[in-house]
Parts: sequence; C-alpha cells; structure tokens
Amino acid sequence: MTAWQDRFDDRIMRSMGRPLRLLVRGEGARVWDDEGREYLDFLAGIAVNSLGHAHPVFVEAVSKQAATLAHVSNYFATEPNLELAERLMRLTGAGESGRAWFGNSGAEANEAAFKLARLNNSGGARTRVLALVDAFHGRTMGSLALTGKPHMRQPFEPLSGGVEHIPATIEALEAAMDDAVAALFVEPIQGEAGVVDLPDGYLAAARDLTRRHGALLIVDEIQTGAGRTGEWFGFQHAGILPDATTIAKGIGGGFPIGGLVTFGRASDLYQKGMHGSTFGGNPLATATANAVLGEIERAGLVENAARRGEQLRERILGLGSPLVTAVRGRGLLRGVALAEPVAERVSIAALDAGLIVNAANDRTIRLAPPLIIGDAELDEFAERFRAALDAAA
Ligand SMILES: *Cc1c(COP(=O)(O)O)cnc(C)c1O
Repeated sequence: MTAWQDRFDDRIMRSMGRPLRLLVRGEGARVWDDEGREYLDFLAGIAVNSLGHAHPVFVEAVSKQAATLAHVSNYFATEPNLELAERLMRLTGAGESGRAWFGNSGAEANEAAFKLARLNNSGGARTRVLALVDAFHGRTMGSLALTGKPHMRQPFEPLSGGVEHIPATIEALEAAMDDAVAALFVEPIQGEAGVVDLPDGYLAAARDLTRRHGALLIVDEIQTGAGRTGEWFGFQHAGILPDATTIAKGIGGGFPIGGLVTFGRASDLYQKGMHGSTFGGNPLATATANAVLGEIERAGLVENAARRGEQLRERILGLGSPLVTAVRGRGLLRGVALAEPVAERVSIAALDAGLIVNAANDRTIRLAPPLIIGDAELDEFAERFRAALDAAA
C-alpha cells in the first residue's frame, strides 16, 4: 500500500470507500495519476465535467471572475447571477414564466424543491409527496427522504414524512395520484439506479395526471441536464414542461453549483424569507456556469452528445462481448447491462487498461464521458473497454 492510501484510511471519513487511484491532473477527456499513468475519463466526475478537464473556457471564467468579484452574499445582486437565471429560462423553454434559485449541490437543489412541494399544500389538504422506487435525489435528510433506496435511508430514519415510493409505471402513478398529492419527483433517466430509462410515455402521462390533480411535477435533471442526453434537459425529449426542475452536476462543468428552476404558478409559491443559502448563486459559481453553458451552446455539444451517444451505443454492442446484454440510457449517459454481476471487476480492469468507468450496481457499468468527445476518444474507448470486458469475463 502506498502512503496516500494510509493517509486516506487514517483521516478521511469512512462514509467513502478507499479509492484505487490518486489523480493529479487532467486535460480534455484524459486524467493522469500520481505515477504518471494516463486514463481516458468516461465518467467525467459523475456527469460533471461537461467540457472535460482544464477546458480554456472554464479556466478563464473561474480565473477572471475570481479576480473580479467572487462572493458577495444574497443581499446583493450580481450580473452573472441574473444572466444565469435568464439563460436557464431560455434553455428550458420556460419563456416568460420562470424563476431560478441557486445553491451549491444537487442535494441542496432537491431540498429547495421539497420545500416547494410543501408550499403547494392547498391550505393543508396536500400531505403526500410521490417519488419512484430506486430513485436517487441526494443524501441530505430531505433529499434522502425522496431517495428510494432502503439501504441508504435506513440508518438515518426517521426522515421527513409524507413521501411514498411508487413503481415507475404509468399504472402505479394512476393508482397513486389524488388531490392530496403535493408533488411527484422523477428523474428522466434513473442514473444512480444503473441508468434506467422511464417507460415510454411516462413523462407525458405524469404531466397530464399531476396537472389534473393540482400536484407539482418536479423533474430532477441533476444528472441528465446540461445537454447530456442530447437535449438541454431530459424532459424535452418528451415535449413537456414540468412545474419545476432541479439542476447541478454538469451545469458548472466542475464548479459546484445547483439550482431549482420553477415554471408558471410554481414560481409564485416561495415568498420573501422562506429560503436561502450563503454561497448559493455567488458570482464565481454563476459566471462559471454561464461560461460552461455558453460553450456547450457555441460548440454544438448538445448535438454532439446525441450523435456520439448513438455511436457509443453501437460501438459497445459491436464489441460482440457475451458479457454485454444491452445498452440503456440516452446520449452520453449510458448504462451497459452485464450478463453477470461483475461490474466491479470490469471497472477495476478498465482502470488497469487506462479507462475510467463506474460500476453503478453489480450488473451495470455507467458511462458519462465529457460532451466534447469525438472519433478518437470513441476508438480508444472501444479498445480499452474490450480489454476490460475480456479481463473480467
Ligand atoms: C447526483 C444526483 C443528486 C445529488 O447531487 P449531489 O450534488 O451529490 O448532492 C440528486 N439527484 C440526481 C438525479 C443525481 O444524479
């Protein structure tokens, strides 16, 4: 064992298992470890590094804003903050009816959304909040109450009340929905669950049912947003606009930022003094997010995610590995379904082959490369992933 591993074991909270590598540097879709070994990064910090590592636009945005005005508190307005809110209205297609609140992470975004759901209470008549089995919405107490994974919840109960987890089927939603439901939380693709797609027509049905019953439809785009699935937001594939959406991960390209965006009547629920965050929406974070989203737009990376994502799927299936049974997901958020519970072994073999992927569960390899990847990266991925599959078979 090397020295950094001892230091990790001694001083880092045991809530995280000890990593297999210590990384020191990145550039584009590549990172290097402390022993000088190079890796193709097909996880991108879990769908965070939209532009890859050390992108000049990201570097300049952080440096310039840090040298200008980094933080001022929410007692003051700043241009980057206003501009990001306006940009999100355009990208979500909200037009004139939306508002944004900014925090620092996905969990914080979902906390703000959970409080929004409580505000949709019709004078106390709406006490129920629906979320899906296997859903992942974060690890803080409120977002954990929305998360549908018993092993994550159990040590921390009792959690915030009123949340029910229903199966991800239109029938289950129809059966559960009534006028006591304040909100339905849903991920367009369940990333942490292993990149699991919703059934066809689910979001359209959810839009219709929530509207009929006065419940909010809150779409968690923390993993699927910022262009990753081949649209700016996953709900756009379904042609719907929810009442609210939560964002984080890829929006900041590596700078921590999260947010809640509301549309229509949901924008009138929060009133003065009901919510806040010291760091949330500071000019350093929002200027960086503006630059990252601006570059995604300028370079056509949403289209690239759609096109490269399809090629990635074809390349994986084209490997002809007996271990691969299907490729789920959309754009550059993909789950490779394995015939055996060997995802951990595949991810370790991938590291040895110079490739970073993630074992989302026993039988799923999750892929979420930077949106900038092209032919060269796909070629290299195919070669290294084949080596990893062969080694683990
Ligand atoms: C990652 C994630 C979260 C939590 O975000 P954090 O920044 O880790 O708090 C919530 N929802 C979804 C869908 C996610 O993928």
